[in-house]
Amino acid sequence: MSTLSDFNHQLLQFLNSSPTPFHAVSSMTELLINAGFIPLKESESWSLKDFQGYFITRNDSSIIAFTTGSQEYFKHGWRLVGAHTDSPCLKVKPNADLYQQNYWQLGVEVYGGALLNPWYDRDLSLAGRVTFLNSQKQVCSALINFEEPIAVIPSLAIHLDRNANKERSINPQTDIPPILSLIPEDNTNKPTLSKLLISHLNSAGYQDIKEILDYELSFYDSQAPALVGLNKEFIASARLDNLLSCFIGLHALLNSEYQKNEVPCLLVCNDHEEVGSQSHCGAQGPFLQQTLTRVMGCPITAAQVMANSLMISVDNAHGIHPNYADRHDANHGPILNKGPVIKQNCNQRYATNSETAAIYKWLSQQQQVPFQSFVVRTDMACGSTIGPITAGELGVRTLDIGVPTFAMHSPRELAGNQDGYILNNVLQAFFKTTELPS
Ligand SMILES: [Zn+2]
Repeated sequence: MSTLSDFNHQLLQFLNSSPTPFHAVSSMTELLINAGFIPLKESESWSLKDFQGYFITRNDSSIIAFTTGSQEYFKHGWRLVGAHTDSPCLKVKPNADLYQQNYWQLGVEVYGGALLNPWYDRDLSLAGRVTFLNSQKQVCSALINFEEPIAVIPSLAIHLDRNANKERSINPQTDIPPILSLIPEDNTNKPTLSKLLISHLNSAGYQDIKEILDYELSFYDSQAPALVGLNKEFIASARLDNLLSCFIGLHALLNSEYQKNEVPCLLVCNDHEEVGSQSHCGAQGPFLQQTLTRVMGCPITAAQVMANSLMISVDNAHGIHPNYADRHDANHGPILNKGPVIKQNCNQRYATNSETAAIYKWLSQQQQVPFQSFVVRTDMACGSTIGPITAGELGVRTLDIGVPTFAMHSPRELAGNQDGYILNNVLQAFFKTTELPS
């Protein structure tokens, strides 16, 4: 079992190398291959062996990794863990180049429920997937990450908006296009996104590019993830929602000793949760169902296996903020570093029920680690996760849990340095538990 500091060190590396869902899947793929997992292709037939790890990706932005366990044990059910790879951000529009007041800017769309204010005055970089045509007229794709801060959205000075601290609002169409550069004086060599992408791809080793056909690019804060606070007890980073949970699930799976673990285990990390999950690779799509069907074969077996399975949907929770404590129910205010949070909502915005919550508490007690619980105030709307969607798609009993955080959907969120590690240890035990309470 890795130590707390090893775990957090690897987590920060993972967050840093995963500025987009494409990069997150690529980072996870690398870790899976290093651990002996075998890549599968959905377009090919599979022949699976017992006691082996496998993984499949869809759209390069969603991934399923699973371990087969033993055939005899199979009917006892899957240990399933789910999370999502996407985070709210600013995505570059198709025809993005803007030239205003001598500045070159890129038009952006807002992806998901982004908290826009904190995007101002940050050193932004750009990453994503680019698809291009080469000289043989082949269509090729590549991941791209500028890493360097190449853009910024400067605030409007308070002198030009005296009421800014009281009433500033943001028009996402006009107020947030990031500035990349000044336009050269002579105006003969105007910068364009296509030129920028070709030159970056060239320097990354892709020499044969005839034309950029399309891209999915997003801006991100280039400030590296860090341990912060007087005692370094907090983790500050972009995309903690929900790459923190992807990493916890993956780390637990990689440490489940699949070569000798009888229990079949699976981790699914879907794209598009922040925009409703309905896509060919989202949790509302058939990716997980199709994969499970292929692994299990016969529908009668599948129904029996599902009835014995448990899904743990991992997504961050809201810690109670000392400056805004009234936004929480007084009896349900999770504190950072006091343990993962069981999320409940009687209207099924979370999939937890009394039995799945009890199983989590039972697992935590065995590990002698704390847990907390959350329900939203009765007079406020509740968020949701892939939990209820997956429970509805598969008919599998499900628990919603997550690490308490501050500043959810900001480009820099904050978590405790203990809770991810605690949840990892519980999930590791879950993956190895042969008999769950039924
Ligand atoms: Zn989330």
